[in-house]
Amino acid sequence: MTSYWLTSSPPDPRPALAGSTVADVVVIGAGFTGLWTAIRLLETRPDLRVVVLEMETVGYGASGRNGGFCQASLTHGLANGLRHFPDEVETLEAEGLRNLRELVAFVEAERIDCDLERTGELIVADQAYQVEEFRAWAEEAATHGEVVRFLDRDEVRAEVHSPIWQAGLLGSPDRTVMLDPAKLCHGLARAAEARGARIHEHSQVTRLERVPGGVRVRTAGGAEVRAEHVVVATSAYSGWLRRLSPLFVPVYDYALVSEPLAARQLESIGWRGRQGLADANNQFHYFRLTADDRILWGGYDAVYHAGNGVGPRFDVRPATFERLEAHFFRAFPQLAGLAFPFRWGGAIDTTSRFTVTFGQTMGGRVTYALGYTGLGVGASRWAAGVVRDFILRPDSDLLRLRFVRSSPFPFPPEPFRYGAVAAVRHALDRADRNEGRRGLLLRTLDALGIGFDS
Ligand SMILES: Cc1cc2nc3c(=O)[nH]c(=O)nc-3n(C[C@H](O)[C@H](O)[C@H](O)COP(=O)(O)OP(=O)(O)OC[C@H]3O[C@@H](n4cnc5c(N)ncnc54)[C@H](O)[C@@H]3O)c2cc1C
Repeated sequence: MTSYWLTSSPPDPRPALAGSTVADVVVIGAGFTGLWTAIRLLETRPDLRVVVLEMETVGYGASGRNGGFCQASLTHGLANGLRHFPDEVETLEAEGLRNLRELVAFVEAERIDCDLERTGELIVADQAYQVEEFRAWAEEAATHGEVVRFLDRDEVRAEVHSPIWQAGLLGSPDRTVMLDPAKLCHGLARAAEARGARIHEHSQVTRLERVPGGVRVRTAGGAEVRAEHVVVATSAYSGWLRRLSPLFVPVYDYALVSEPLAARQLESIGWRGRQGLADANNQFHYFRLTADDRILWGGYDAVYHAGNGVGPRFDVRPATFERLEAHFFRAFPQLAGLAFPFRWGGAIDTTSRFTVTFGQTMGGRVTYALGYTGLGVGASRWAAGVVRDFILRPDSDLLRLRFVRSSPFPFPPEPFRYGAVAAVRHALDRADRNEGRRGLLLRTLDALGIGFDS
């Protein structure tokens, strides 16, 4: 089942790669990372011959299926940034804010109609023990320049009417805008083509071979491109390139979209600020209004399928859809009876430190960027700038950041991987049911700087 966004955003078909051709750069994957990479390369060097190869259609992967929360954070939130990159967090925060401003400016300049709304994000507490944590976090975040307003129980319920909220943290619109991700993908694809990129759909790359002066890229359809540089932007599907497997696990995240709300239903929930919402549990929900006043409600289950499983057979998970619906009506009992005609899943590229990771292989000819762990809508544009720098600006300051140079702690191979992920998920679930108290396993992993999230 495809996402609500992809259903409502008509496709713009492009031919598969055929025969044998040459390019300066081949980008593999037409999600946000691949499309922004094509654009940023061509902005810097308009004469480059850039070919984008996509195994399905533009936006087929996570980029066409996500919640559409487009955030400034490059580090999966300030708290995670402080934990893993305390020495660089100030730079990364500034880079992230600049990136979001530039992303919005690009959308406006290119007139990409992606229903972008500058709303900010509201994090809600649905557990009493979280209230004091929220208050403390509002103070701590301020010391690092992030202004979040603490809302007490009455204030948060006045903002969005739910009987289960206990407190809230209201963030600034400078840090979160909401958008339709499929419309953004299609707009980026057009912007890349307008700058000279060639995009081929239904062109699955199966092999990279080092050849003199570059790399030969072969597709499942028997076509090939020779290029000086290759960019791998295949996210949670990156198992095809074996050396990337230790860096990430593909984790399935699921979402529902309701029918449009009637005026009286909208009245019953408030939500006039139309913020992106999320709760603060380890297994969290995220939710938002769409431009036509439906509610998207997703998250909670984060499912790893053994053997790095990805593919259409995992897009539908009735047990998760039922659980999500039940949780929804607990949060919004006044909307009882609301139907959810759209349900889907998508694969998230999770790393053990929840942030994008970069690297090069084949003598520096192949550059990869993946691992946003469920927060890549905004960060992918910044990562594309880093990839551009790897290829065109090797002296760039960004390439000296530890955030860019270092790799996350690797995940074990199968058969241990499945068991390890299951054990951590179980421990996170137990912590959520135990007032956030982290057991021995989680405390040990925390001490080692290793985590699991979506
Ligand atoms: C359900 C869900 C909700 C999410 N919600 C949010 C959110 O609200 N905010 C946020 O910031 N992030 C969110 N994310 C994460 C965000 O969507 C991703 O971080 C981002 O889209 C990653 O973009 P990408 O281009 O790297 O990967 P993708 O969009 O997955 O693109 C990879 C592309 O590569 C193609 N491909 C793979 N293998 C090959 C091959 N061999 N040859 C050719 N092409 C290939 C795929 O078909 C795909 O189109 C969510 C993700 C999911 C799944």
